[in-house]
Amino acid sequence: MQPTITLLGPPGSGKGTQAERLGEEHSFAALATGELLREARAAGTELGRRASEYMDRGDLVPDEVIIAMIRDELASLDDKPVLLDGFPRTVAQADALARALGERGRKLDAAVLIDVPDDVVVERISRRHQDRDDDSPETVRERLRVYHRETEPLVAYYGERGLLRRVDGAGDAESVNAEVRAALE
Ligand code: ADP
Repeated sequence: MQPTITLLGPPGSGKGTQAERLGEEHSFAALATGELLREARAAGTELGRRASEYMDRGDLVPDEVIIAMIRDELASLDDKPVLLDGFPRTVAQADALARALGERGRKLDAAVLIDVPDDVVVERISRRHQDRDDDSPETVRERLRVYHRETEPLVAYYGERGLLRRVDGAGDAESVNAEVRAALE
């Protein structure tokens, strides 16, 4: 069975950077829900239009929209190791992920939490220039609030299931990468 891993962490924790590196090093297919949504939006699809209003406010896109999107993506990756970036972000999404993987004869092998304090998040995002519509200081604060309220409960959720691996995400990309790899061994 091919491994399935998810990266958890607040906005600006470097999930995307780490997912990209693991993809290159270990031939994981990286599924980043934020990227998929931004692509859908740029392409002007119905999904993209629906997601935009939530993304611009810093809110989560409704679970059923995200879950349908991820189910489609997983269906095309049966023979590959999968690395999820930015999903699940709610307990309902985590439950749906477990069901979707089970139906495909897979299971989640680890949830790696890239732990970064809020002040570091705010500092990092204010310095990066990615031209993302949702990187204004107010929206970043809202994304952090949403993270603590909706996504942080997944730390306990995966802890109880013996799947949580915690990594200190405050260092540079290189040292975080070393820690993530160690956590996955
Ligand atoms: P970040 O981790 O920096 O917030 P992402 O690119 O992962 O960046 O997500 C950007 C936005 O896309 C989120 O603020 C949210 O609106 C939407 N989004 C991404 N993934 C999900 C998800 N799993 N559930 C709901 N909304 C999501």
